[in-house]
Amino acid sequence: HKQPTYIGPEQIIDKRKAYFYPCTQHFYQKPPQLVRGSMQYVFDEQGKRYTDFFAGVSVVACGHCNEEITRESVRQLQTLQHTTTIYLTQPMVDLAERLAEVLPGDLRRTFFCNSGSEANEGALLLARMYTGKSDFISMEGGLHGRTNLTMSVTGIPMWQTDPYLYPGVTFIPRPFDHKELHAQLSENELTPAARRSLEALQAVLDAKGDKIAAMIVEPIQGNGGIIVPPKGYYREVKKLLDAHGVLLIMDEVQTGFGRTGQMFGCEHFGIVPDIITMAKALGGGVPIAAFASTDTIAAALSKPSASTFGGNPVSAVTALAVLDYIERERLVQRAAERGGALKSALLELQQRYPAHVSDVRGEGLMLGMEILADNPTRGAALVDQILEQMKDNGILIGKNGLNRNVLAFQPPLIITEDDVQSMVNILDQVL
Ligand code: PLP
Repeated sequence: HKQPTYIGPEQIIDKRKAYFYPCTQHFYQKPPQLVRGSMQYVFDEQGKRYTDFFAGVSVVACGHCNEEITRESVRQLQTLQHTTTIYLTQPMVDLAERLAEVLPGDLRRTFFCNSGSEANEGALLLARMYTGKSDFISMEGGLHGRTNLTMSVTGIPMWQTDPYLYPGVTFIPRPFDHKELHAQLSENELTPAARRSLEALQAVLDAKGDKIAAMIVEPIQGNGGIIVPPKGYYREVKKLLDAHGVLLIMDEVQTGFGRTGQMFGCEHFGIVPDIITMAKALGGGVPIAAFASTDTIAAALSKPSASTFGGNPVSAVTALAVLDYIERERLVQRAAERGGALKSALLELQQRYPAHVSDVRGEGLMLGMEILADNPTRGAALVDQILEQMKDNGILIGKNGLNRNVLAFQPPLIITEDDVQSMVNILDQVL
């Protein structure tokens, strides 16, 4: 086994001649070169330890290289690595059954693939096949993937790289305005922004509901800046869509598997979508993704449709170990508890630095802190400085938002009280 040699950030950037270096330069001037991970920590080539408050964007919910999980992956790697879906394997069938148990409502037919983009692409196709309609509704600020169709329903201009997007997509405004706090809303009460969003949805459905197959949304937007709609919002959305024969696809790629303090994000809103998509945390770091729907909708997938690697034994066994670990360690409840404590601490920092911190929002361990909402360009520059200084102090956090001026806190769900406290102390100093 050959250890990778450290070549340093400058040389890595130089190496971009050979490697499409896609993203990291937007985060750090000198991105750390990580060589090892252990639960909530990652280590760079010089042995410096970082507490990971971004979790590879919500992927390693059970921690990095969690021994109980990797033991299962390694055992499967040494037993049967790959077969393709021509043949059935026990891990794939077991995982589908297990998902049917944890998924809400009657979403019990699961199709396996390899990434969030693929899961959403498949869900959009299934909606077209089931409804016989071609077009989609999406929400401004949503991120759904990097294939042509998923990029077409992505409502963040910086992620729309393809110059030839599918034109049959209508975007509605988000049910969000950071000036309208909705913490005190009663169960069915909506904010003015949520009502405006629903009016826009109604107008699109009235004008072209007969062409629209589905609406796709993240229950809580991640990349769009941690946007949590008022509790009653999706119930109204579902009613409007049902009346026009339009399916609701919930993209739970980021929110799924306990991240928000519920097993799935849609559970905060008391609704069950027609199709749900999953990725990230499901494999705890190995590539696996899926979409699930009811028996009736799944039956519409009538032509041959399979993914070479989808549901492969190594990923399926790993996902089963992830689900076991989440259940045994009560990680959904822990995300709710630890997230509640972190949110309170972040709100205290907002009180302390009101000139810079405009908003703190989110559910469970999917939290955002918006910096300078009124001057987002300066806010984004400050966020970059904060990220850099947090990194120098051994903490990795994320950033998101339409203006990239939102700090994102999405650690592994196993994060401890002490980790949270020391991160908050460092953030206090950095702010
Ligand atoms: N959907 C959401 C909500 C995401 O956050 C992402 C990834 O960031 C995707 C879809 C795309 O997933 P992937 O990068 O696995 O294709």
